[in-house]
Amino acid sequence: SVGVAAAAPEAGPGPAWQSKCPWGAPSTTSISCSLADVMSEQLAKELQLEEENAAFPEVVAVAEGPFITGENIDTSSDLMLAQMLQMEFDREYDAQLRREEKKINGDSKVSISFENYRKVHPYDSDSSEDEVDWQDTRHDPYRADKPTTTPRRGFIGKGKDITTKHDEVVCGRKNTARMENFAPEFQVGDGIGMDLKLSNQVFNALKQHAYSEERRSARLHEKKEHSTAEKAVDPKTRLLLYKMVNSGMLETITGCISTGKESVVFHAYGGKSPTEDKVIPPECAIKVFKTTLNEFKNRDKYIKDDYRFKDRFSKLNPRKIIRMWAEKEMHNLTRMQNAGIPCPQVVILKKHVLVMSFIGQDQVPAPKLKDVTLSSEDMKKAYYQILNMMQQLYKECNLVHADLSEYNMLWHDGKVWLIDVSQSVEPTHPHGLEFLFRDCRNVSQFFQKGGVAEALNERELFNAVSGLNITADNEVDFQAEIEALEKMNEDHVQNHGKKLSTFSSDGDPPIYDE
Ligand code: ADP
Ligand code: MN
Repeated sequence: SVGVAAAAPEAGPGPAWQSKCPWGAPSTTSISCSLADVMSEQLAKELQLEEENAAFPEVVAVAEGPFITGENIDTSSDLMLAQMLQMEFDREYDAQLRREEKKINGDSKVSISFENYRKVHPYDSDSSEDEVDWQDTRHDPYRADKPTTTPRRGFIGKGKDITTKHDEVVCGRKNTARMENFAPEFQVGDGIGMDLKLSNQVFNALKQHAYSEERRSARLHEKKEHSTAEKAVDPKTRLLLYKMVNSGMLETITGCISTGKESVVFHAYGGKSPTEDKVIPPECAIKVFKTTLNEFKNRDKYIKDDYRFKDRFSKLNPRKIIRMWAEKEMHNLTRMQNAGIPCPQVVILKKHVLVMSFIGQDQVPAPKLKDVTLSSEDMKKAYYQILNMMQQLYKECNLVHADLSEYNMLWHDGKVWLIDVSQSVEPTHPHGLEFLFRDCRNVSQFFQKGGVAEALNERELFNAVSGLNITADNEVDFQAEIEALEKMNEDHVQNHGKKLSTFSSDGDPPIYDE
Protein backbone atom coordinates (compact mmCIF):
# COMPACT_ATOMS: atom_id res chain seq x y z
CA SER A 1 0.00 0.00 0.00
CA VAL A 2 3.04 2.27 0.34
CA GLY A 3 3.24 2.34 -3.39
CA VAL A 4 6.42 4.28 -3.83
CA ALA A 5 8.77 2.55 -6.23
CA ALA A 6 12.48 2.81 -5.81
CA ALA A 7 13.03 3.95 -9.35
CA ALA A 8 15.80 6.30 -10.34
CA PRO A 9 14.37 9.39 -12.04
CA GLU A 10 15.98 8.68 -15.39
CA ALA A 11 14.94 5.04 -15.37
CA GLY A 12 12.96 3.99 -18.36
CA PRO A 13 10.35 1.29 -18.53
CA GLY A 14 11.10 -1.91 -16.72
CA PRO A 15 12.26 -4.28 -19.44
CA ALA A 16 14.70 -1.79 -20.96
CA TRP A 17 16.32 -1.14 -17.64
CA GLN A 18 16.52 -4.82 -16.88
CA SER A 19 18.12 -5.68 -20.21
CA LYS A 20 20.79 -2.99 -19.80
CA CYS A 21 21.90 -4.37 -16.48
CA PRO A 22 25.18 -6.28 -16.90
CA TRP A 23 24.40 -8.60 -13.98
CA GLY A 24 21.13 -9.72 -15.48
CA ALA A 25 17.71 -9.48 -13.95
CA PRO A 26 17.59 -9.44 -10.14
CA SER A 27 15.66 -12.36 -8.71
CA THR A 28 13.37 -10.12 -6.67
CA THR A 29 12.12 -7.25 -8.76
CA SER A 30 9.41 -5.97 -6.44
CA ILE A 31 11.36 -3.66 -4.08
CA SER A 32 8.56 -1.32 -3.38
CA CYS A 33 10.40 1.06 -1.09
CA SER A 34 14.01 1.94 -0.46
CA LEU A 35 15.60 2.58 2.93
CA ALA A 36 16.03 6.20 1.97
CA ASP A 37 12.33 6.49 1.39
CA VAL A 38 11.41 4.79 4.61
CA MET A 39 13.72 7.12 6.46
CA SER A 40 12.40 10.11 4.62
CA GLU A 41 10.92 12.54 7.04
CA GLN A 42 8.59 13.85 4.46
CA LEU A 43 7.19 10.47 3.72
CA ALA A 44 6.74 9.79 7.38
CA LYS A 45 4.91 13.03 7.78
CA GLU A 46 2.67 12.31 4.84
CA LEU A 47 1.82 8.88 6.12
CA GLN A 48 1.18 10.23 9.58
CA LEU A 49 -1.08 12.91 8.20
CA GLU A 50 -2.96 10.42 6.08
CA GLU A 51 -3.53 8.24 9.08
CA GLU A 52 -4.55 11.11 11.30
CA ASN A 53 -6.80 12.58 8.69
CA ALA A 54 -8.68 9.33 8.59
CA ALA A 55 -8.95 9.03 12.36
CA PHE A 56 -9.38 12.61 13.57
CA PRO A 57 -9.80 14.96 10.65
CA GLU A 58 -10.60 18.00 12.77
CA VAL A 59 -7.72 17.54 15.19
CA VAL A 60 -5.25 17.63 12.35
CA ALA A 61 -6.83 20.76 11.07
CA VAL A 62 -6.14 22.43 14.40
CA ALA A 63 -2.60 21.17 14.57
CA GLU A 64 -1.96 22.50 11.12
CA GLY A 65 -3.37 25.89 12.02
CA PRO A 66 -1.27 28.97 12.55
CA PHE A 67 -0.78 28.24 16.25
CA ILE A 68 2.09 25.79 15.98
CA THR A 69 4.17 26.27 12.92
CA GLY A 70 7.84 26.04 12.31
CA GLU A 71 8.08 29.75 11.57
CA ASN A 72 6.31 30.89 14.67
CA ILE A 73 9.38 30.86 16.86
CA ASP A 74 7.64 32.19 19.94
CA THR A 75 5.25 29.33 20.28
CA SER A 76 7.08 26.46 18.71
CA SER A 77 8.98 25.81 21.88
CA ASP A 78 7.25 23.57 24.39
CA LEU A 79 8.78 25.36 27.31
CA MET A 80 7.48 28.66 26.09
CA LEU A 81 4.04 27.21 25.57
CA ALA A 82 4.02 25.71 29.03
CA GLN A 83 5.08 29.00 30.53
CA MET A 84 2.42 30.87 28.63
CA LEU A 85 -0.23 28.47 29.84
CA GLN A 86 1.07 28.71 33.37
CA MET A 87 0.98 32.49 33.18
CA GLU A 88 -2.56 32.36 31.92
CA PHE A 89 -3.50 30.02 34.72
CA ASP A 90 -1.82 32.23 37.30
CA ARG A 91 -3.70 35.26 36.02
CA GLU A 92 -6.97 33.45 36.28
CA TYR A 93 -6.04 32.39 39.75
CA ASP A 94 -5.28 35.97 40.72
CA ALA A 95 -8.50 37.18 39.20
CA GLN A 96 -10.39 34.66 41.30
CA LEU A 97 -8.45 35.82 44.34
CA ARG A 98 -9.42 39.39 43.61
CA ARG A 99 -13.07 38.41 43.35
CA GLU A 100 -12.89 36.63 46.69
CA GLU A 101 -11.14 39.59 48.24
CA LYS A 102 -13.93 41.81 47.02
CA LYS A 103 -16.59 39.46 48.27
CA ILE A 104 -15.06 39.22 51.73
CA ASN A 105 -14.35 42.89 52.11
CA GLY A 106 -17.65 44.13 50.77
CA ASP A 107 -18.21 47.65 51.94
CA SER A 108 -16.29 47.18 55.14
CA LYS A 109 -13.94 49.99 56.07
CA VAL A 110 -11.32 47.58 57.26
CA SER A 111 -10.30 45.30 54.45
CA ILE A 112 -8.01 42.37 54.14
CA SER A 113 -5.68 41.78 51.27
CA PHE A 114 -4.61 38.57 49.58
CA GLU A 115 -1.67 40.37 48.03
CA ASN A 116 0.80 37.86 49.38
CA TYR A 117 -1.06 34.96 47.83
CA ARG A 118 -1.01 36.36 44.32
CA LYS A 119 0.89 34.36 41.82
CA VAL A 120 1.66 37.13 39.39
CA HIS A 121 3.58 40.02 40.85
CA PRO A 122 2.70 43.38 39.29
CA TYR A 123 6.13 43.35 37.72
CA ASP A 124 5.40 40.19 35.80
CA SER A 125 1.96 40.95 34.54
CA ASP A 126 1.79 42.92 31.39
CA SER A 127 -1.64 43.95 32.63
CA SER A 128 -2.76 44.55 29.09
CA GLU A 129 -6.39 44.77 30.13
CA ASP A 130 -6.28 47.87 32.21
CA GLU A 131 -3.68 49.79 30.32
CA VAL A 132 -4.61 52.40 27.77
CA ASP A 133 -2.66 52.41 24.58
CA TRP A 134 -1.16 55.87 24.65
CA GLN A 135 0.04 55.60 21.10
CA ASP A 136 -3.51 56.26 20.04
CA THR A 137 -3.84 59.49 21.93
CA ARG A 138 -2.22 62.62 20.61
CA HIS A 139 -1.26 63.97 23.98
CA ASP A 140 0.06 61.87 26.77
CA PRO A 141 -1.21 63.45 29.95
CA TYR A 142 1.20 61.46 32.07
CA ARG A 143 4.25 62.83 30.39
CA ALA A 144 5.46 65.77 32.39
CA ASP A 145 6.55 68.78 30.41
CA LYS A 146 10.16 68.60 29.55
CA PRO A 147 12.03 69.93 32.55
CA THR A 148 14.14 72.97 31.97
CA THR A 149 17.62 71.66 31.57
CA THR A 150 20.37 73.22 33.54
CA PRO A 151 23.55 73.75 31.62
CA ARG A 152 26.83 72.35 32.83
CA ARG A 153 27.79 75.45 34.69
CA GLY A 154 24.89 74.74 37.02
CA PHE A 155 22.85 77.91 36.66
CA ILE A 156 20.84 79.86 34.11
CA GLY A 157 19.80 83.46 33.89
CA LYS A 158 21.72 86.53 34.75
CA GLY A 159 22.12 88.68 37.81
CA LYS A 160 19.11 88.55 40.12
CA ASP A 161 17.18 86.08 37.91
CA ILE A 162 19.79 83.40 38.27
CA THR A 163 18.43 79.90 38.93
CA THR A 164 20.79 77.19 40.03
CA LYS A 165 20.23 73.46 39.57
CA HIS A 166 19.37 73.31 43.23
CA ASP A 167 16.35 75.51 42.79
CA GLU A 168 13.49 73.86 44.67
CA VAL A 169 10.85 74.26 41.98
CA VAL A 170 13.03 73.13 39.11
CA CYS A 171 14.34 70.28 41.14
CA GLY A 172 10.86 69.21 42.15
CA ARG A 173 9.60 69.18 38.58
CA LYS A 174 12.64 67.29 37.47
CA ASN A 175 12.12 64.67 40.15
CA THR A 176 8.53 64.21 39.06
CA ALA A 177 9.66 63.69 35.50
CA ARG A 178 12.31 61.24 36.59
CA MET A 179 9.64 58.98 38.04
CA GLU A 180 9.14 57.84 34.48
CA ASN A 181 12.40 56.00 34.70
CA PHE A 182 10.94 53.62 37.24
CA ALA A 183 9.70 50.33 35.88
CA PRO A 184 6.44 50.93 34.05
CA GLU A 185 4.53 48.72 36.48
CA PHE A 186 5.51 50.86 39.42
CA GLN A 187 2.44 52.80 40.46
CA VAL A 188 3.39 56.43 40.85
CA GLY A 189 -0.11 57.80 40.78
CA ASP A 190 -1.78 60.40 38.72
CA GLY A 191 -0.37 63.88 38.70
CA ILE A 192 -2.09 65.31 35.64
CA GLY A 193 -2.15 69.06 35.60
CA MET A 194 -0.95 69.29 39.17
CA ASP A 195 2.51 70.64 38.45
CA LEU A 196 3.80 68.12 40.93
CA LYS A 197 7.09 69.01 42.56
CA LEU A 198 8.69 66.17 44.43
CA SER A 199 11.24 67.04 47.03
CA ASN A 200 14.51 65.15 46.84
CA GLN A 201 13.63 63.34 50.02
CA VAL A 202 10.33 62.03 48.72
CA PHE A 203 11.82 61.16 45.36
CA ASN A 204 14.64 59.18 46.94
CA ALA A 205 12.22 57.29 49.17
CA LEU A 206 10.13 56.43 46.14
CA LYS A 207 13.16 55.32 44.20
CA GLN A 208 14.25 53.10 47.05
CA HIS A 209 10.80 51.57 47.18
CA ALA A 210 10.73 50.96 43.45
CA TYR A 211 13.99 49.06 43.66
CA SER A 212 13.00 47.01 46.65
CA GLU A 213 9.78 46.07 44.88
CA GLU A 214 11.82 44.82 41.96
CA ARG A 215 13.97 42.77 44.27
CA ARG A 216 10.91 41.42 46.03
CA SER A 217 9.58 40.19 42.73
CA ALA A 218 12.80 38.35 42.07
CA ARG A 219 12.77 36.80 45.52
CA LEU A 220 9.17 35.73 45.18
CA HIS A 221 10.04 33.68 42.17
CA GLU A 222 13.03 32.15 43.72
CA LYS A 223 10.79 31.01 46.57
CA LYS A 224 8.17 29.61 44.25
CA GLU A 225 10.72 27.44 42.55
CA HIS A 226 11.86 25.86 45.78
CA SER A 227 8.50 25.42 47.40
CA THR A 228 7.71 21.92 46.23
CA ALA A 229 6.23 19.73 48.91
CA GLU A 230 9.50 18.00 49.53
CA LYS A 231 11.59 21.08 49.82
CA ALA A 232 9.20 22.69 52.29
CA VAL A 233 10.92 20.69 55.01
CA ASP A 234 14.52 20.66 56.08
CA PRO A 235 16.82 17.73 55.22
CA LYS A 236 16.52 16.12 58.66
CA THR A 237 12.73 16.10 58.42
CA ARG A 238 12.89 14.79 54.89
CA LEU A 239 15.00 11.93 56.15
CA LEU A 240 12.44 11.18 58.88
CA LEU A 241 9.64 11.12 56.31
CA TYR A 242 11.73 9.04 53.96
CA LYS A 243 12.34 6.46 56.69
CA MET A 244 8.61 6.18 57.32
CA VAL A 245 8.02 5.39 53.67
CA ASN A 246 11.04 3.12 53.49
CA SER A 247 9.88 1.06 56.46
CA GLY A 248 6.59 0.50 54.67
CA MET A 249 4.59 2.18 57.39
CA LEU A 250 3.52 4.77 54.85
CA GLU A 251 2.81 3.84 51.27
CA THR A 252 3.44 7.22 49.67
CA ILE A 253 3.48 10.82 50.73
CA THR A 254 1.35 12.49 48.12
CA GLY A 255 1.66 16.18 48.84
CA CYS A 256 1.17 19.12 51.08
CA ILE A 257 -2.27 19.95 52.49
CA SER A 258 -1.40 23.06 54.42
CA THR A 259 1.53 25.25 55.28
CA GLY A 260 0.95 27.30 58.36
CA LYS A 261 3.14 29.48 60.47
CA GLU A 262 3.93 26.70 62.86
CA SER A 263 3.43 23.54 60.89
CA VAL A 264 3.30 21.92 57.48
CA VAL A 265 0.72 19.18 56.96
CA PHE A 266 1.12 16.45 54.36
CA HIS A 267 -1.20 13.77 53.08
CA ALA A 268 0.00 10.18 52.86
CA TYR A 269 -1.40 6.78 52.08
CA GLY A 270 -0.93 4.36 54.94
CA GLY A 271 1.11 1.21 54.55
CA LYS A 272 1.74 -1.86 56.64
CA SER A 273 1.94 -1.72 60.38
CA PRO A 274 5.23 -2.84 61.93
CA THR A 275 3.35 -4.43 64.82
CA GLU A 276 0.30 -6.64 64.88
CA ASP A 277 -1.74 -4.68 67.39
CA LYS A 278 -1.58 -1.41 65.52
CA VAL A 279 -3.52 -0.56 62.39
CA ILE A 280 -2.32 2.16 60.05
CA PRO A 281 -5.28 4.09 58.63
CA PRO A 282 -5.61 3.96 54.84
CA GLU A 283 -5.00 7.71 54.65
CA CYS A 284 -2.83 9.71 57.02
CA ALA A 285 -2.06 13.32 57.78
CA ILE A 286 1.53 14.14 58.69
CA LYS A 287 1.95 17.27 60.76
CA VAL A 288 5.50 18.54 60.69
CA PHE A 289 6.14 21.12 63.38
CA LYS A 290 8.43 23.76 62.00
CA THR A 291 11.83 23.79 63.50
CA THR A 292 12.41 27.46 62.94
CA LEU A 293 11.90 28.98 66.31
CA ASN A 294 10.72 32.47 65.57
CA GLU A 295 7.05 31.64 65.30
CA PHE A 296 7.08 29.63 68.45
CA LYS A 297 8.43 32.39 70.61
CA ASN A 298 5.01 33.89 71.11
CA ARG A 299 3.64 30.53 72.11
CA ASP A 300 5.85 30.37 75.15
CA LYS A 301 3.04 31.36 77.40
CA TYR A 302 1.09 28.24 76.53
CA ILE A 303 3.76 25.80 77.46
CA LYS A 304 5.93 27.67 79.93
CA ASP A 305 3.09 28.10 82.38
CA ASP A 306 1.71 24.64 81.84
CA TYR A 307 2.76 22.88 85.02
CA ARG A 308 2.93 19.61 83.12
CA PHE A 309 5.91 20.98 81.26
CA LYS A 310 7.11 23.44 83.80
CA ASP A 311 10.21 21.71 85.05
CA ARG A 312 11.25 20.58 81.64
CA PHE A 313 10.86 23.88 79.92
CA SER A 314 13.73 25.75 81.49
CA LYS A 315 16.27 23.04 80.76
CA LEU A 316 15.46 22.46 77.14
CA ASN A 317 17.09 23.56 73.97
CA PRO A 318 14.89 25.03 71.25
CA ARG A 319 14.74 21.88 69.15
CA LYS A 320 13.40 19.95 72.08
CA ILE A 321 10.77 22.58 72.72
CA ILE A 322 9.45 22.05 69.20
CA ARG A 323 9.29 18.33 69.86
CA MET A 324 7.35 19.08 72.99
CA TRP A 325 4.67 20.78 70.90
CA ALA A 326 4.32 17.66 68.81
CA GLU A 327 4.27 15.56 71.95
CA LYS A 328 1.62 17.79 73.43
CA GLU A 329 -0.58 17.43 70.39
CA MET A 330 -0.21 13.67 70.54
CA HIS A 331 -1.17 13.43 74.21
CA ASN A 332 -4.06 15.81 73.83
CA LEU A 333 -5.40 13.89 70.82
CA THR A 334 -5.12 10.67 72.78
CA ARG A 335 -7.15 12.13 75.63
CA MET A 336 -9.81 13.31 73.20
CA GLN A 337 -9.88 9.96 71.46
CA ASN A 338 -10.43 8.25 74.79
CA ALA A 339 -13.36 10.55 75.51
CA GLY A 340 -14.89 9.73 72.14
CA ILE A 341 -14.52 13.20 70.69
CA PRO A 342 -14.24 13.08 66.87
CA CYS A 343 -10.59 13.96 66.15
CA PRO A 344 -7.62 12.52 64.25
CA GLN A 345 -6.26 9.31 65.66
CA VAL A 346 -2.58 9.30 66.53
CA VAL A 347 -0.54 6.86 64.46
CA ILE A 348 3.00 7.63 65.49
CA LEU A 349 5.18 10.43 66.81
CA LYS A 350 8.77 10.77 65.65
CA LYS A 351 10.56 13.80 67.03
CA HIS A 352 8.69 16.82 65.65
CA VAL A 353 6.67 14.80 63.14
CA LEU A 354 3.21 13.59 64.12
CA VAL A 355 1.40 11.07 61.95
CA MET A 356 -2.34 10.81 62.47
CA SER A 357 -5.40 9.60 60.63
CA PHE A 358 -6.57 11.77 57.77
CA ILE A 359 -9.94 13.51 58.10
CA GLY A 360 -11.25 13.52 54.56
CA GLN A 361 -11.17 11.17 51.62
CA ASP A 362 -9.13 10.47 48.50
CA GLN A 363 -6.51 13.07 49.36
CA VAL A 364 -9.17 15.76 49.78
CA PRO A 365 -9.14 17.06 53.34
CA ALA A 366 -12.46 17.73 55.00
CA PRO A 367 -13.38 21.40 54.72
CA LYS A 368 -12.97 23.73 57.65
CA LEU A 369 -16.21 24.86 59.20
CA LYS A 370 -15.52 28.34 57.92
CA ASP A 371 -15.48 27.04 54.35
CA VAL A 372 -18.64 24.94 54.26
CA THR A 373 -22.16 26.17 53.81
CA LEU A 374 -24.36 24.11 56.05
CA SER A 375 -28.12 23.89 55.99
CA SER A 376 -29.69 25.57 59.00
CA GLU A 377 -30.49 22.12 60.31
CA ASP A 378 -26.85 20.98 60.06
CA MET A 379 -25.70 24.27 61.51
CA LYS A 380 -27.84 23.71 64.58
CA LYS A 381 -26.66 20.13 64.82
CA ALA A 382 -23.05 21.28 64.59
CA TYR A 383 -23.60 23.84 67.31
CA TYR A 384 -24.98 21.36 69.82
CA GLN A 385 -22.25 18.90 68.95
CA ILE A 386 -19.59 21.51 69.63
CA LEU A 387 -21.22 22.55 72.89
CA ASN A 388 -21.15 18.91 73.89
CA MET A 389 -17.53 18.46 72.79
CA MET A 390 -16.38 21.54 74.68
CA GLN A 391 -17.95 20.16 77.85
CA GLN A 392 -16.39 16.75 77.28
CA LEU A 393 -13.05 18.33 76.55
CA TYR A 394 -13.23 20.31 79.77
CA LYS A 395 -14.67 17.71 82.11
CA GLU A 396 -13.45 14.39 80.74
CA CYS A 397 -10.19 15.38 79.09
CA ASN A 398 -9.39 18.17 81.51
CA LEU A 399 -8.46 20.35 78.56
CA VAL A 400 -9.21 23.72 77.03
CA HIS A 401 -8.65 23.78 73.28
CA ALA A 402 -7.22 27.32 73.38
CA ASP A 403 -7.42 27.83 69.60
CA LEU A 404 -10.99 26.80 68.95
CA SER A 405 -12.62 28.48 65.99
CA GLU A 406 -14.18 27.67 62.64
CA TYR A 407 -10.60 27.35 61.35
CA ASN A 408 -9.79 24.36 63.49
CA MET A 409 -13.00 22.43 63.11
CA LEU A 410 -13.53 20.21 60.08
CA TRP A 411 -16.88 19.08 58.70
CA HIS A 412 -16.69 15.42 57.76
CA ASP A 413 -19.18 12.57 57.69
CA GLY A 414 -21.98 14.85 58.83
CA LYS A 415 -20.24 15.94 61.99
CA VAL A 416 -17.61 18.28 63.37
CA TRP A 417 -14.06 17.09 64.00
CA LEU A 418 -11.65 18.95 66.27
CA ILE A 419 -8.05 19.36 65.17
CA ASP A 420 -4.96 21.40 66.04
CA VAL A 421 -4.63 20.78 69.77
CA SER A 422 -0.90 21.27 70.27
CA GLN A 423 -1.58 24.45 72.21
CA SER A 424 -4.38 23.02 74.32
CA VAL A 425 -3.91 23.37 78.06
CA GLU A 426 -5.51 22.17 81.25
CA PRO A 427 -8.14 24.47 82.73
CA THR A 428 -5.87 25.14 85.71
CA HIS A 429 -3.21 26.61 83.43
CA PRO A 430 -2.58 30.17 84.63
CA HIS A 431 -4.38 31.48 81.54
CA GLY A 432 -6.58 28.46 80.95
CA LEU A 433 -9.88 30.17 81.71
CA GLU A 434 -8.99 33.16 79.56
CA PHE A 435 -8.27 30.78 76.69
CA LEU A 436 -11.59 29.08 77.31
CA PHE A 437 -13.39 32.40 77.25
CA ARG A 438 -11.76 33.25 73.94
CA ASP A 439 -12.80 29.87 72.53
CA CYS A 440 -16.36 30.51 73.70
CA ARG A 441 -16.39 33.90 72.06
CA ASN A 442 -15.25 32.44 68.73
CA VAL A 443 -17.84 29.68 68.84
CA SER A 444 -20.68 31.97 69.95
CA GLN A 445 -19.97 34.55 67.31
CA PHE A 446 -19.64 32.01 64.55
CA PHE A 447 -22.97 30.37 65.29
CA GLN A 448 -24.83 33.56 66.07
CA LYS A 449 -23.68 34.97 62.75
CA GLY A 450 -24.56 31.63 61.18
CA GLY A 451 -28.16 32.07 62.21
CA VAL A 452 -28.42 29.59 65.08
CA ALA A 453 -30.98 31.27 67.30
CA GLU A 454 -30.34 28.82 70.15
CA ALA A 455 -26.63 29.68 70.36
CA LEU A 456 -25.65 30.86 73.84
CA ASN A 457 -23.72 34.05 74.13
CA GLU A 458 -20.04 33.79 75.06
CA ARG A 459 -20.61 34.24 78.79
CA GLU A 460 -23.43 31.71 78.97
CA LEU A 461 -21.35 29.29 76.92
CA PHE A 462 -18.38 29.75 79.24
CA ASN A 463 -20.50 28.89 82.26
CA ALA A 464 -22.12 25.97 80.48
CA VAL A 465 -18.73 24.49 79.58
CA SER A 466 -16.85 25.19 82.78
CA GLY A 467 -19.67 24.60 85.23
CA LEU A 468 -18.63 27.84 86.90
CA ASN A 469 -21.24 30.43 87.64
CA ILE A 470 -19.82 33.81 86.81
CA THR A 471 -22.69 36.25 86.97
CA ALA A 472 -21.16 39.42 85.52
CA ASP A 473 -23.37 40.60 82.69
CA ASN A 474 -20.75 42.50 80.75
CA GLU A 475 -17.55 41.46 79.11
CA VAL A 476 -15.15 43.55 81.18
CA ASP A 477 -16.42 42.39 84.58
CA PHE A 478 -16.63 38.85 83.34
CA GLN A 479 -13.03 38.93 82.21
CA ALA A 480 -11.95 40.40 85.54
CA GLU A 481 -13.66 37.62 87.47
CA ILE A 482 -12.00 35.04 85.25
CA GLU A 483 -8.59 36.52 85.96
CA ALA A 484 -9.27 36.60 89.69
CA LEU A 485 -10.20 32.93 89.59
CA GLU A 486 -7.04 32.11 87.69
CA LYS A 487 -4.94 33.85 90.27
CA MET A 488 -6.55 31.84 93.03
CA ASN A 489 -5.99 28.63 91.17
CA GLU A 490 -2.41 29.30 90.35
CA ASP A 491 -0.83 29.01 93.78
CA HIS A 492 -2.71 25.86 94.52
CA VAL A 493 -1.82 24.14 91.30
CA GLN A 494 1.80 25.13 91.38
CA ASN A 495 2.21 23.84 94.92
CA HIS A 496 0.43 20.71 93.91
CA GLY A 497 2.77 20.27 90.96
CA LYS A 498 5.87 20.78 93.08
CA LYS A 499 4.68 18.40 95.72
CA LEU A 500 4.17 15.74 93.10
CA SER A 501 7.65 16.16 91.68
CA THR A 502 9.35 15.39 95.02
CA PHE A 503 7.81 11.94 94.93
CA SER A 504 9.29 11.20 91.58
CA SER A 505 12.18 8.77 91.76
CA ASP A 506 14.45 10.18 89.05
CA GLY A 507 13.88 13.81 89.82
CA ASP A 508 11.66 14.40 86.82
CA PRO A 509 8.09 15.40 87.56
CA PRO A 510 5.31 13.25 86.20
CA ILE A 511 4.14 15.16 83.24
CA TYR A 512 1.03 13.42 82.09
CA ASP A 513 -1.70 12.07 84.19
CA GLU A 514 -3.02 9.57 81.69
P1 ADP B 1 -1.82 24.80 62.15
O1 ADP B 1 -1.19 24.94 63.50
O2 ADP B 1 -0.89 25.06 61.04
O3 ADP B 1 -3.13 25.54 62.05
P2 ADP B 1 -3.47 22.42 61.92
O4 ADP B 1 -3.35 21.22 62.79
O5 ADP B 1 -4.65 23.30 62.14
O6 ADP B 1 -2.12 23.24 62.02
O7 ADP B 1 -3.45 21.93 60.43
C1 ADP B 1 -3.48 22.82 59.35
C2 ADP B 1 -4.48 22.38 58.32
O8 ADP B 1 -4.17 21.09 57.82
C3 ADP B 1 -5.88 22.25 58.87
O9 ADP B 1 -6.57 23.44 58.79
C4 ADP B 1 -6.50 21.18 58.01
O10 ADP B 1 -7.02 21.75 56.83
C5 ADP B 1 -5.33 20.32 57.65
N1 ADP B 1 -5.25 19.15 58.55
C6 ADP B 1 -4.56 19.04 59.69
N2 ADP B 1 -4.71 17.82 60.25
C7 ADP B 1 -5.53 17.13 59.42
C8 ADP B 1 -6.08 15.81 59.42
N3 ADP B 1 -5.81 14.94 60.41
N4 ADP B 1 -6.88 15.45 58.41
C9 ADP B 1 -7.15 16.32 57.42
N5 ADP B 1 -6.67 17.56 57.35
C10 ADP B 1 -5.88 17.98 58.33
MN1 MN C 1 -5.06 25.30 62.59
